[in-house]
Amino acid sequence: MSSREQILTWLESVTDPEIPTVSIEEMGILRDVRTGEAGEVTVTITPTYSGCPAMDVIAMQIRMTLLGRGLKTVHIEQSLSPAWTTDWITESGRQKMHAFGIAPPVRKAKDDLALFEEDEVPCPKCASVHTELVSRFGATSCKSMYRCLDCKEPFEHFKCH
Ligand SMILES: [Zn+2]
Repeated sequence: MSSREQILTWLESVTDPEIPTVSIEEMGILRDVRTGEAGEVTVTITPTYSGCPAMDVIAMQIRMTLLGRGLKTVHIEQSLSPAWTTDWITESGRQKMHAFGIAPPVRKAKDDLALFEEDEVPCPKCASVHTELVSRFGATSCKSMYRCLDCKEPFEHFKCH
């Protein structure tokens, strides 16, 4: 029977399809792994936002990964409460997102009332804060498009939800 630790190690290879270098654990999507009798495994995930199409892909990847390791029964549960926040992205997740060319979400103070106001989004290439929003929606609805006014490079910003 596989231990919880072993399963967590295997799941490190499951990444967010939006940012293929960042694992679902680093994204804060992977919430829990429980092992039951007869090798049964229940994996709990929290969607980055409700209705995110990437979640179906992630659930399938988890299932394929664990079945590929010889597990027989894999349950995937979605936990919607507490809701995912960008604060759940780990420091290593933020660094990898940055290295991938996506501006990580800006950390906000818990009591910040201006929830819908975007902070300055620094350019992931030259770190300039002279950037402008080009489109609220990038390649997927989880990201928005920005352009750097200094190095002229377009880049994507992972939105705060
Ligand atoms: Zn730049």
